[in-house]
Formats: sequence, structure tokens, C-alpha cells
Amino acid sequence: MTDSRPAVTEYRYPRLHLLLAILISTALVVALTLLPSPDATATRTVRLAQPLVTVESPAQEALTVADEVEAVAALEEAADAQSEAAAAVAESNFTWSVAEVKKGDTLSHIFKRAGLGPKDVQDVLAAKGDLSEFKKIHPGQQVRFGLKDERLEALVYVISRTETLQVRRESDGFIAEMKVEDLVPFTSYSEGVITSSLFLAAQKAGLTNSMTMELANIFGYDVDFALDIRKGDSFKVIYQELHLNGEKVRDGDILAAQFTNQGKTFTAIRYDTSDRGADYFTPEGMSMRKAFRRSPVDFARISSHFNLARRHPVLHTIRAHKGTDYAASTGTPIKATGDGKVAFAGWKGGYGRVVILTHGQGIQTLYGHMSGFARNIRAGTRVSQGQVIGYVGASGLATGPHLHYEFYVNGSVRNPVTVKLPQAEPVSTKDKPAFMALSAQMQNQLSTYAAAIKSETLARLETE
Ligand SMILES: [Zn+2]
Repeated sequence: MTDSRPAVTEYRYPRLHLLLAILISTALVVALTLLPSPDATATRTVRLAQPLVTVESPAQEALTVADEVEAVAALEEAADAQSEAAAAVAESNFTWSVAEVKKGDTLSHIFKRAGLGPKDVQDVLAAKGDLSEFKKIHPGQQVRFGLKDERLEALVYVISRTETLQVRRESDGFIAEMKVEDLVPFTSYSEGVITSSLFLAAQKAGLTNSMTMELANIFGYDVDFALDIRKGDSFKVIYQELHLNGEKVRDGDILAAQFTNQGKTFTAIRYDTSDRGADYFTPEGMSMRKAFRRSPVDFARISSHFNLARRHPVLHTIRAHKGTDYAASTGTPIKATGDGKVAFAGWKGGYGRVVILTHGQGIQTLYGHMSGFARNIRAGTRVSQGQVIGYVGASGLATGPHLHYEFYVNGSVRNPVTVKLPQAEPVSTKDKPAFMALSAQMQNQLSTYAAAIKSETLARLETE
């Protein structure tokens, strides 16, 4: 099959750059927030219109500016239509009042506060339709009453930002209807360079904390985010944001991401497999998941986390130190790095309270100085990867709270990074062609957006 793809690829840079410039000038860029800080010049967020990824029709990847502008207009129109739907009940000339649900409220209480009587409650509860949501009212929610000539005509119970139960009067009594508004996905791109911490760099790039945790999760099999992050490490993320009426409601999924740690770059592509749901894969289709996670403690809980320049001091004195120390406060959860079985949970000399897990293939992991064990952790218990097995402490020969972690193969301590370990299933043969198309597209986008942001930055610097 001959095609003109190289030409298309070469052609895309200026066009996307132009596109980004237009998006920026029309204020569709969410956050080019340049805060006066060292991280600021290194981080950027750009929002892009939706039709970014379409596996079925890779030909669509070369979007024209007109297409993109049209797509944005269409999305805005859809958002307008949604707010119209929300206002449908309010369209008539009712007088509206709003009651906030308080602690211990029943529907009668709320009606009473709105100046309505038991008969109104009765009539509403006799409405045709599903009223089960009324059983779940909780403090902070809103109930809106629409009256005309002092008679209750409509009620809107706001369940969430996207769901409302709307009850309105018809000729033969009330009728209830659930309205669910669809969130509109927007695709965004962010990148950042770590100068002090991943959290700070990600924050400046416009990522939420949960998105940052998700990023660390995806790469947590290759990178120890607690100990291995260095100044100059960087990330690129293509992700979705879910919007309603032009406002972000929540984050969507990370679609593709790249993390460079100490000069080594890892790339993950999200793919919805036909056999086991969505998961992350390397560009070649290998699973990002491995038999072991790199860190037994969440990186956000590590005491040395915010000072990467200074390694935390070794706080204990097991002779012939042969493990990795994670300084964290007492009580921080310790997670099994792989699926396994508890071989030992108890006191062992200098290790203090210790858990040893057996994982098969001659591999054992050891977690020392614990302040306590998690419930049901005793010899013979099966544990799964990421399960909390105990809590950080300073038991045994330790002068301060930290986790001492060891990784053994056939009885001798090894560096888990250099041990060849089985990975989770790769993309199936059946899914491979579709995956490879998506993978190429995503890698292309990661570098295209990075290049576009770079030339945008250069262009701005030149005009300044
Ligand atoms: Zn140690």
C-alpha cells in the first residue's frame, strides 16, 4: 500500500503550530499560566478540540484549521443545547425559590421551608415516574421550587452537576423525569520539567493532583517516584477533561504519556483492548504492568519528596546495609510490590516488625521496621500487588521512622531493576493492528504538540 504519509507528517508541523496559535489567540487555551517561579518556563497546557484520536479513521488525523474551528463551534453549540435542556423546566413564567438540603432534612422539612404544605409533598410523591432518588437526599444538595399563582408547578432536585430529577405538573397530576446531561470530552496536552518536585511541576502544567497520581501509577513499574526522581526529569501527557456548559467537571483518562527519568524515556499508550478493558501499553504493545511495582510506598508520602537535592539520611543501622530506605512518617501505608503470599510476619532482630512475602520464581520481598501489620497479615495470607500489608515505623534497629525494603532472588539480595521479570500480557494478536495505528498516532501527537509549544514559545520570545 502506497500512501503519502511522510509528506503529511512533514506538513503537519506548521499547520498544527498555526492551529495552536489560533487556539491561543481565541482564548481557547486554558492555562498558559506563567507563574513567577522556576518551574514556570518549563510547563505548558494546551487545550485542543475533541476529534484528536480516531483509531477507525487514521486519515482524519490531518485536521485542517477550519475543521478544528468547526469542531470547537459544534462542541460549544452542544453545550448550549445542554443548558437549554437544563432550563427547560424553568422556561415558563414560574417564580423560583431554592431550598438547600440540611442535615436531618426530610422532604417535608424542605417543602415547609419553601412555604409549601403536606398536600404538596403528597402530590409530588404521587408523581408518575421514578422517585427513588428522593430517598438519597443529602445535605448540601438543592431543591428548586417553581410556583405560579402560589401553586407548586414544578420541582427540580439537583442530584449532581450532571443529574437532576425534574417533577412538573401536568393536567392529571405530577410527572417525574430524570435528566442526565452528557459530559463533553476535551483533549488536552501538558508538559513539564521537574525542578523541585513532580507535584509542583505537574501543578504548574495544569494537572490536578489525582492526574499526577495517575501518571505516577502508570509509570510506577519502571520508575520509583519516591526515590528516583531528579531535577530535569520531564513529562508529556495527552489527557481528557470532561466539560459541561463550557466548564470542566472532572478529569478524564490519560490517553498517552511520556516520562523521562534520569535520561531514560518511557512511553505509555492507553488502549481499550477487546479482551480485558482499557490498559496502558508500551508503543510496541507490551504491557506497562510488571510483576513488581518499583516503590512499596506512595511517592507523595515520602518525607524527602520535597527536597530532591538532599537525599534523606540513612536512619537505621542494620549491619551490611542491603536494602532501600524510604523515609516516611509513622503510620504511612506500606504496599506489597507484587502478588504473593506472606512467608513471615513478626519480629526479627534489627528489622523489628517485618513482613516477608514469597512471590514465586524464587523471589521474596522484605519490609522492615513496621509500626504495625495490616489486618489479616499473617504467615500464609495471600496478598495482591498494591495491597496494604503494614505501616511505616521505627521498630528494631532504627533511629527514625522509615521503611527498609529488600528484594531477594533465590536467597540473595538483588536490584529489582536489573532482574528480568515477567510482564503482564501484551496486546493480543487480534488487537495488534489497531493498537499499532493508535500507537503511531499518539507518539506523533506527543512530539507534534511538544514541537508546537516549543516554536510558540520561541515565537513569543522573539517578539518580546
Ligand atoms: Zn535500610
